[in-house]
Amino acid sequence: MLKSHSCGELRKEDAGKEVTLAGWVDRRRDHGGLIFIDLRDREGITQIVFNPEISGAAHELADQLRSEYVAHVTGQVALRQAGMENPKLPTGNIEIIAQSVRILNTSLTPPFYVNEDSDVDESLRLKYRYLDLRRTRMKENLLLRAQVVRFMRDFLEKRGFIEIETPILIKSTPEGARDYLVPSRLWPGKFYALPQSPQQMKQLLMISGFEKYYQIARCFRDEDTRADRQPEFTQLDVEMSFAEEEDIIKLFEELFTSLIEKVKPEYRIFKPFPRLSYEEAMERYGSDKPDLRFGVEIKDISDILAKSEFAVFHNTLADGGKVKGLCAPKCGNYSRSQLDELNKFVQAVGAKGLVTISLGAGSGSVKELSLSEIKSQAMKYLTLEQVKQIAERLEANRGDLLLLIAGKGDTLSLAMGELRKEIGRRLNLADPNLFAFAFVINFPLFEWNKEANRWQSMHHPFTQPKDEQISLLDTAPAKVHGKHYDLVCNGFEVGGGSIRIHTDEMQRKVFRILGHKDEDIERLFGHMMEAFKYGAPPHGGIAFGLDRLVMLLAKESTIRQVIAFPKNQNAVDLVFNAPAEATEEQINELHISLKEEPPNEV
Ligand code: ASP
Repeated sequence: MLKSHSCGELRKEDAGKEVTLAGWVDRRRDHGGLIFIDLRDREGITQIVFNPEISGAAHELADQLRSEYVAHVTGQVALRQAGMENPKLPTGNIEIIAQSVRILNTSLTPPFYVNEDSDVDESLRLKYRYLDLRRTRMKENLLLRAQVVRFMRDFLEKRGFIEIETPILIKSTPEGARDYLVPSRLWPGKFYALPQSPQQMKQLLMISGFEKYYQIARCFRDEDTRADRQPEFTQLDVEMSFAEEEDIIKLFEELFTSLIEKVKPEYRIFKPFPRLSYEEAMERYGSDKPDLRFGVEIKDISDILAKSEFAVFHNTLADGGKVKGLCAPKCGNYSRSQLDELNKFVQAVGAKGLVTISLGAGSGSVKELSLSEIKSQAMKYLTLEQVKQIAERLEANRGDLLLLIAGKGDTLSLAMGELRKEIGRRLNLADPNLFAFAFVINFPLFEWNKEANRWQSMHHPFTQPKDEQISLLDTAPAKVHGKHYDLVCNGFEVGGGSIRIHTDEMQRKVFRILGHKDEDIERLFGHMMEAFKYGAPPHGGIAFGLDRLVMLLAKESTIRQVIAFPKNQNAVDLVFNAPAEATEEQINELHISLKEEPPNEV
């Protein structure tokens, strides 16, 4: 190696040692005669001092060093003078008195500061990603990611799981997103698809008898460029034979509890992880991935308003709808314009409008509340008694703001859920050090797709229905729940899985309910149906979105911050400028032709 030590390693006890370090020039300071270089490598930063009286040649070369030059320094470790220590650096008690230096490479002036965490345009960062990754924050994110993956591997290996790679070139898998297709050169007119996940392969591995599989697996989904998604992303993918829901939930509760204790011991988690049914999550939090870092629960108050003559409530309730509410603590003094903003917010998330009840400016129990303190556009139609009942149900105090929405079904729940999150954000209610993991269970097996006018799987078609509800499959599919579980954390779904169907009869039944014709089942899933006939064991599994998980652990707000070379929000890789045109020859070899000229630039 060109170095005897890393730049993060030397301490007081090393004083006097002859060492050789190599790395990048993080900073250079010329202090009239003495030149100081902060030399940086992956492990840290060490201060080097060039003194013309110790080595004139080294001092002269040091004068040529600039930011991001690659330098190789030999010298002696010395204690820094009293008062000159830098407590912010682990190596801050020492410095290296340079005897010689070699410039291993020069560098252009980087397009942004590598040695500070300043705000830089993301396109520039993505174009020069290799420089961006030199920055401490990005480096730490990738080191954290590696640590998380290592932990997962160790944890699973100790419990008898083995890692098996599965192919990237396969056939379309029905996971709800659009596939990436790869035209075949050898087979004109045929296409491979990139896997949306290794779902079918891992199930086949269970049929092969491997019993406990995992993989850090790349998945590909050609989704519209909205939200924080990437065309390719990574999952911790797991499958187990002879396991039931409880086994998988327990195993991963243990994995994530011990992972946090190891990599982020300063974070708090709930022990054990709360479990909520899908229905409860939707009712109480208006989301199937609730953020449990704060309360502000949603409550149904339809019964209190049953006789209300306020048209909004009356008409909705008469039409089979509901009125739901939540309490924004200490927001009783919200101004007209703040209330208008909230009204616009709920309209943007699907509600018709918001009814607000301000409980004045006081504090303490609502028992003492008087009519004159209350403000609401529905006041004419509300009695003091009703307001108190609503306030009590919403666990409100004087000085709070009650927010009510009238509506129906999931539209109402989801709007309430968004409103709840918005209140959490505005009031900063979430403890930033709480990692509120929870399992959401008992999902319906199917949901009705209005546009396509058919049932679709809530998870995917391989999920096993609950045993006691199998008899309802033919008569009332809406009532059937699946053996499906999701792991959520702070408002994100970080993983999901299920116990699978393992007989061809049950699989065929479910495919038929999903509207597949027998020929299609054969064409698309014949290989699975056939495999189930050769002694398929009961099995189940789960997959976790590694990018999202590491993003949360690193307290970043996009997954691009924890992926070495992500695509930008338009699915473009700015380092390689991909996607890019192919040559005519390549296109011809693939037996395809282009319908339109590609744009000049992506
Ligand atoms: N393959 C599923 C997914 O990617 C996870 C699973 O069921 O294991 O969502």
